[in-house]
Amino acid sequence: MEERLVSANVENEDEEETLRPQWLDEYVGQDSLKNNLRVFIQAALGRNETLDHVLLYGPPGLGKTTLAYILGNEMKGKVRTCSGPSIEKPGDLAAILSMIEAGDVLFVDEIHRLPKVVEEVLYPAMEDFCIDVVVGKDATTRSIRLDLPPFTLVGATTRAGDLTAPLRDRFGIVSKLDYYTIEQLGDIVRRTARVLNVEIVDEAVVEIAKRSRGTPRIANRLLRRVRDFAQVLNNGIISIEIAKSSLDQLKVDALGLDEVDIHYLRGVIERFRGGPVGLEALASSIGEEPLTLEDVYEPYLIQIGFINRTARGRVATPKAYEHLQITYNDQLF
Ligand code: ADP
Repeated sequence: MEERLVSANVENEDEEETLRPQWLDEYVGQDSLKNNLRVFIQAALGRNETLDHVLLYGPPGLGKTTLAYILGNEMKGKVRTCSGPSIEKPGDLAAILSMIEAGDVLFVDEIHRLPKVVEEVLYPAMEDFCIDVVVGKDATTRSIRLDLPPFTLVGATTRAGDLTAPLRDRFGIVSKLDYYTIEQLGDIVRRTARVLNVEIVDEAVVEIAKRSRGTPRIANRLLRRVRDFAQVLNNGIISIEIAKSSLDQLKVDALGLDEVDIHYLRGVIERFRGGPVGLEALASSIGEEPLTLEDVYEPYLIQIGFINRTARGRVATPKAYEHLQITYNDQLF
């Protein structure tokens, strides 16, 4: 498969694990969420209770999984993970829940993709720590209620809007993760460089941070790639020249936009006269999946003010024209 720097996929799970901060104090940024969580954690531990269920939403790579593991550590519980689409039947969820111990964190990634029948099993599990299991066959079929130990569900989603109201309402703590600032990404790059034992100059840290589209996963990924260039070309030291030339080589531009972003923007501007254009039409014209564009690419393009989502479709802003060096007025006929 073609390798993408901006992709939502985790490309090297083991390395990603070693880079995850373990404690809230090491987790960079998301300050108001962190401050709230500190209070909730301390209060729950003080009462000898579990933390309320937490729903985290936001684009991929912003630290939702990392935070779920941190909550497990801070609450002194184990973390069990699963993802919405992998739980097909109520029995699958029951099996996972039956392994849970008091105080554990159950992390459900892509929670918006849980099948409805599974979601319904989750309601009593979240609310009353119990599940209803159907036993017997035909005439002897009956439902028995099993108690579960108290646990914390941490749900993650890129699309909070796709969650059903009853599920959403069962989370006591709901929080959106924000894109990171360049300073915060710089802290993450420095930390990762330390963990990977790479020498990097400050200017190069900033260069990588600037091109990471506000996303820690991308910052770490770019650092690893740049490290390869540095190893081959510069005795392993990441200088500003190496950082710039390798990022250019990787086709990540000064704002962190990659080839797909550029196709997207050129698509809107050149094929649809700047929009409005519907997502489906645009996606098919540039050969991308609508969902990938919507979940992975558009949030950042909206964040930096390059596109607007209107009722009639996507529209490119003057800023996008400027970035691509296309005259805005040319399109106004
Ligand atoms: P998500 O679950 O939102 O897709 P992850 O939690 O898997 O994102 O984060 C991706 C990577 O980015 C992790 O391996 C981690 O190293 C890094 N990361 C994410 N958030 C932070 C943070 N706040 N501080 C430091 N590193 C982070």
